[in-house]
Amino acid sequence: MNGQEIKALDERYILHTYARAPFVIERGEGVRVYDTEGKAYLDFVSGIAVNALGYGDPDVVAAVAEQSQRLMHISNLYYSAPQTALAQMLVERSFADKVFFCNSGTEAIEAALKFARKWAKVNHGEHKTGFVAFERAFHGRTMGALSLTPRPSYQDPFRPLIPGAAFATYNDLASAEALITDDTCACIVEPVQGEGGVYPADPAFLKGLRALCDRHGALLIFDEVQCGLGRTGTLWAHEPYGVTPDLMTLAKPLGGGLPIGATLMTDAVAGAIEPGDHGSTFAANPVVCSAAQVVVEKVAAPAFLERVRALGSYVEESLLELQHRHACIKEVRGRGLIWGIEATVDVGPAIDAGFGEGLLTCKAGANVLRLLPPLVVSEADIDEATAILDRAFAVL
Ligand SMILES: *Cc1c(COP(=O)(O)O)cnc(C)c1O
Repeated sequence: MNGQEIKALDERYILHTYARAPFVIERGEGVRVYDTEGKAYLDFVSGIAVNALGYGDPDVVAAVAEQSQRLMHISNLYYSAPQTALAQMLVERSFADKVFFCNSGTEAIEAALKFARKWAKVNHGEHKTGFVAFERAFHGRTMGALSLTPRPSYQDPFRPLIPGAAFATYNDLASAEALITDDTCACIVEPVQGEGGVYPADPAFLKGLRALCDRHGALLIFDEVQCGLGRTGTLWAHEPYGVTPDLMTLAKPLGGGLPIGATLMTDAVAGAIEPGDHGSTFAANPVVCSAAQVVVEKVAAPAFLERVRALGSYVEESLLELQHRHACIKEVRGRGLIWGIEATVDVGPAIDAGFGEGLLTCKAGANVLRLLPPLVVSEADIDEATAILDRAFAVL
C-alpha cells in the first residue's frame, strides 16, 4: 500500500480523534523515521516522549523477541517473573515500596486517584475525597484523569465529571494553600508540565506542596508520565527538588514503545489496598515488562543521565541563540531533553515547515512548539534540528 492509499483508508475507517501529519511513517532507525516515499525525518517528538532509546534499540528488540517466544500473556491471576523483576527495579531506584501496573498513563492516574480515595476512607473517614490539581495540567483522557485536566475543550463535552476537583495556579503556592484542606485526599502535580506548555516547577513550589499535604493529611501525587525516566536528566524529574511524593505515575517511555503504565506508592498507601480493589487484564504483560527492564536499566545508568544533562545544556544554549534571532520567540523553557519554545503566534506553520525539511516537532498548546528528542540524540542531531527551526521560525 502506498501513502495515498493508507491515508484514504484512514479517512474512511478510523475515528478521527487526532489531526494527523500529512505523511505516512513506515519505519524508524536510531533518531530518524522514514515515510512511505523514503523521506527521512529527524524525530524530535519520539512518539510523544515514548521512544527514549530511539528506534530499534537492539537490546529492547532482543528482549521482546525472546519473551514473546516464551510467553506472550499470562493473567494477573498468576505470578510473573518479568513483572516482579521490573517492580523490584522501580522500587529500588525510587522513593516507593510497591508498584501497581496498568497499560497507559491515564490508567496510572486512575489507579493513583482510586488508591488515594481508599487510603483516605480507611485512615480518615468518608469526608476526605477532594482532589487539588493545577491549571494547564494534563493527566489523561479517562473520566477521573480528565476531571483533573482543566482544559474546557477536553472537559466540557463530557460533563458531568467526578466531583470534588479544584484547580490552583501552577508555581503559585498561595493559590494551592487556599484549596488544600482537611477534606483533600490528594494533590496531583507534574514536576514539569508537558502538554500544558513545558513549565518546570519552581523548587519552593514542590517543597511547599509537600508541606501543605503533610499539614492537611493529604497525599502528594507526582505525575511523571512525560517528565520521568531520565527525560529531565535525572531518573525522576522530582529528584533535584529534594522532595518525594506518596504516589508517582509513569508510562510513556517505560515500555520502550510497548504500552505500560505504573503507579508507584509508599507502604502507607499500599496498606489501604486489598485484593479486588483494582485490576487490569493486560497489565504488566510479560513482553512489555521484559522491554521495560531494558529501558530502566539503560536510562538509570549514571553515565546515561549525565549525558542527558549535558545535552540539555547544549539544547538550552542553542534555543537561547535561536530566540535572539527571532522576535516572535517569547520564551524558551525546559530541562534535560524536554523543551518548549513559546511564540507570540500559533506555532503550527513552523511545525509544518519542519515537516517539509525533515524534522518532527509537536505543539504543547497553540503557541508552544515542544521538543522531545530520543534521549540518545547527539549534538550533531541537535545542530541539525536547530538549523531547521531557524528557517521554520522565519515562516512565522
Ligand atoms: C500523556 C500523559 C498522560 C496520559 O497518558 P496516556 O498514556 O496518553 O493515557 C498523563 N499525564 C501526563 C503528564 C502525560 O504527559
